[in-house]
Amino acid sequence: MPVQRVNPGEGLAPWAAWESLSRGRRHPEPAHPYRGEFQRDRDRIIHSTAFRRLVYKTQVFVNHEGDHYRTRLTHSLEVAQIARTVALRLGLNECLVEAICLAHDLGHTPFGHAGQDALNACMEPFGGFEHNLQSLRVVDELEDKYAAFRGLNLTFETREGILKHCSRRNARELGELGERFLERRQPSLEAQLANLADEIAYNNHDVDDGLRAGLLTEDELDAVELFRERHEAVRRASPQISRRALIHEIVRGMINEVVTDLIDSSEAALEKAHPTDIEAVRRQKQPLIRFSRRTAGRHRKLKAFLQKSLYRHERVLLMTERAAGIVTALFQRYMDDPHAMPREHAQRALDWGEAQGDRGRARAVADYVAGMTDRYALAEYRRLVAEPPEMEMQAKATETNDD
Ligand code: MG
Repeated sequence: MPVQRVNPGEGLAPWAAWESLSRGRRHPEPAHPYRGEFQRDRDRIIHSTAFRRLVYKTQVFVNHEGDHYRTRLTHSLEVAQIARTVALRLGLNECLVEAICLAHDLGHTPFGHAGQDALNACMEPFGGFEHNLQSLRVVDELEDKYAAFRGLNLTFETREGILKHCSRRNARELGELGERFLERRQPSLEAQLANLADEIAYNNHDVDDGLRAGLLTEDELDAVELFRERHEAVRRASPQISRRALIHEIVRGMINEVVTDLIDSSEAALEKAHPTDIEAVRRQKQPLIRFSRRTAGRHRKLKAFLQKSLYRHERVLLMTERAAGIVTALFQRYMDDPHAMPREHAQRALDWGEAQGDRGRARAVADYVAGMTDRYALAEYRRLVAEPPEMEMQAKATETNDD
């Protein structure tokens, strides 16, 4: 008996990314008998090697520090969860938004922001390094899994969402995908949503991880309105609550507040602008997925607090410095001797070096270094340079395994 097919466009608002209006893949492929195109994108991302490596990469904390900190993998899942909730309410394409969220951090270096800044500094004379662009490079070029093409051959809409920012210089080299940065047009609503879901996820989980690690205290965080109001409300309602549950209740309340506001404000903006399709969305002057002014301000203050108190905490800065030293030393070592890399990467460095000089060689080295996990970078440093420095950031005895 034939199975009844569900229309992939069912439940979508006119402003959503409809598969029937997709700009397609770089290498055309026949349709799949039972999976939609954005669904296939998401599945390809989940099965990619770069996705599996996210489990050993971090944003603020170093991977081996504790079993309960976020990794890039759990971060990506949290981003996808938040974005899917909003997408469903706004009639957006859930599969597309999920694909974008799961892929958004694939290009991140080891050791989070510290690694990214260090690699960008190393690459300064050779065209620079942007993690967003690297995520695109991973799905377009670096994954080696298919007989017919390099990369994952994702749809335009997923690639558009992955490329969140881009310098004008790089945009000019990206063809169709770079156009919107030059013409100041918007990406799909799904891409706009993935971007804000990322912010919501990391601001809130950095509060959670920062408290667990003993780098932040509730008292300090009370300087942030968004936090203080939740803190007081939970204490009032449950004076006997454990600290662990208290932190969770506060963070959950903060996420709920900003997500609810995001849905309400975006709904209002969509009603007002009423874009008739995705092209009308792209022509808008401003993103339509947005917070209210009040919530944007409250959320910004939380972000500013984290900048000042967590990311520039002396223990974090010490790790940042050490991580930068490791990435820089590895980059230099491979530049001097490409054969210190595995054969496939060494060959690429030599081939690209022959075609484009140091610029080509440096790009091959950057691809290799960017792909490393935190622990692999430490092992390579130990093998090629010296015993790595201590990489523990958390205050001792704040995190236990029964947490
Ligand atoms: Mg992210």
